[in-house]
Amino acid sequence: MNQYDVILVGTGQATGTILPKLLALGKRIAVVEGGRVGGTCVNWGCAPTKTLVASSRVARVIRDAERFGIRSEEPRIDYGRVMERVNEIRRGSSDGFRAWLEKATDFYAGWGSFEDPRTVRIGDTRIRGEQILIHTGTLSRKPDLPGLDSVPWLDNRSLLDLEELPEHLVILGGSYIGMEFAQAYRRLGSRVSVLESSDRLVPREDPDFSGAVRELLEAEGVECLLDTRAAFVRPSSRGGIELEYRRDGAAETVEGSHLLVAVGRAPNTDGLDLDKAGVRRDSRGYIEVDDQCRTSVPHIFALGDVNGRGAFTHTSVHDGQVYLSALEGGSRTLKDRVPIYSLYTDPPLARVGASESDLKSRGKGYRRAVLRMSEVPRAREKGETRGFVKILVDDEDDRLLGAGILGVGGDEAIGMLALAIRAKLPYTALTDTILPHPTLSEMIPWMFDNLEAVEP
Ligand SMILES: Cc1cc2nc3c(=O)[nH]c(=O)nc-3n(C[C@H](O)[C@H](O)[C@H](O)COP(=O)(O)OP(=O)(O)OC[C@H]3O[C@@H](n4cnc5c(N)ncnc54)[C@H](O)[C@@H]3O)c2cc1C
Repeated sequence: MNQYDVILVGTGQATGTILPKLLALGKRIAVVEGGRVGGTCVNWGCAPTKTLVASSRVARVIRDAERFGIRSEEPRIDYGRVMERVNEIRRGSSDGFRAWLEKATDFYAGWGSFEDPRTVRIGDTRIRGEQILIHTGTLSRKPDLPGLDSVPWLDNRSLLDLEELPEHLVILGGSYIGMEFAQAYRRLGSRVSVLESSDRLVPREDPDFSGAVRELLEAEGVECLLDTRAAFVRPSSRGGIELEYRRDGAAETVEGSHLLVAVGRAPNTDGLDLDKAGVRRDSRGYIEVDDQCRTSVPHIFALGDVNGRGAFTHTSVHDGQVYLSALEGGSRTLKDRVPIYSLYTDPPLARVGASESDLKSRGKGYRRAVLRMSEVPRAREKGETRGFVKILVDDEDDRLLGAGILGVGGDEAIGMLALAIRAKLPYTALTDTILPHPTLSEMIPWMFDNLEAVEP
């Protein structure tokens, strides 16, 4: 049986962060991957969706061109070419990464599972590791919806394998993944209907951001069916999919050509035989870890989405940094992380730190500054005045607590607010900073003139 210092099960997003360091330390490493190298982000998540969003934005710009004094015709969408571009980008990254892994490590193509706390089995092969890293990510969660398996429903993976543009895409779930697909497919020419059980889209966001996201999607023709309970699904007589739902106690139906299920994620642990290793899971099925990604078995670590402490590529990469720090007796921990992410609609919604809802639930008073994108010169010049910026400040010590930017360039500008929050800076550090004109960022120092107090 081959023996290794470290076995990595799954090529999640921290792989590229941890392996160079482990190799430099002279460790003998095995990498086990059952699917496409590079995991969700490269193959089924960030990269393909942002590539799709970019194509759909071009369609939107062409439709909108007259506003800028440019005459154009209705764009003709070549969905095959759109997906070719998506595939070129994701396959290029995955293949390049795999070639590197095959050279730098012992690469095992297959699904790994535990045979005991130090042995991983891949088919008929068994390998042993001094340390084992579980980096297996999440999969789309399948809801308990009667009739679902009677129709060819799609998740984020299978949607990206379609060769033809859906005529009418029904999306179950109005959160991050559903919203990006909703806008992109609408812009590419599909009819899109979104069903969400909450009374607002992206319900984890503050109501003002939820409302603004809904407004911008509805203005582009996305049908938003909120406060709905999906009841059952069946094939329709016209060859499509019929979904019956309840709203205000009444039964209604929506019929589409395709159904995308986007109701959340579930940890990818089913095939791992964690019980044989003694690795504990929490009540949601995620692997329990301490603040340095160590599981209930000290030589086994769980990195990335599978530990339930983050759900993004950057949190997974940070897990890798925390694990490396733990190896060297360093002090980096998951606790120190400031939450940050973007919803990549166009314009994007970028968020960092606490939301107003978080602060209210903690009973904390705070101050709030709001700036409409229509007041930002650069946004006006770009003709992109949808959205607003909101920054929250501590009512006692002037520190920045959180921020959200729904607006063009927000996904980049949020970085400076993240740095300020991480460094525990007071907002006055920003008011003293001169930023280049014309940018969205230059307006942030001025926003604090409008700070208003909000009672707990
Ligand atoms: C549609 C969509 C869009 C997204 N967009 C963004 C975005 O814009 N920005 C962002 O930060 N995040 C985004 N995410 C989330 C992001 O993709 C994940 O948070 C990120 O990939 C981190 O996952 P991970 O590193 O934990 O593992 P993953 O990237 O999921 O990789 C896990 C790997 O483990 C392999 N594996 C699983 N089980 C086994 C086993 N038993 N044996 C061997 N191999 C195994 C899998 O095949 C997979 O390759 C998106 C997700 C989706 C679904």
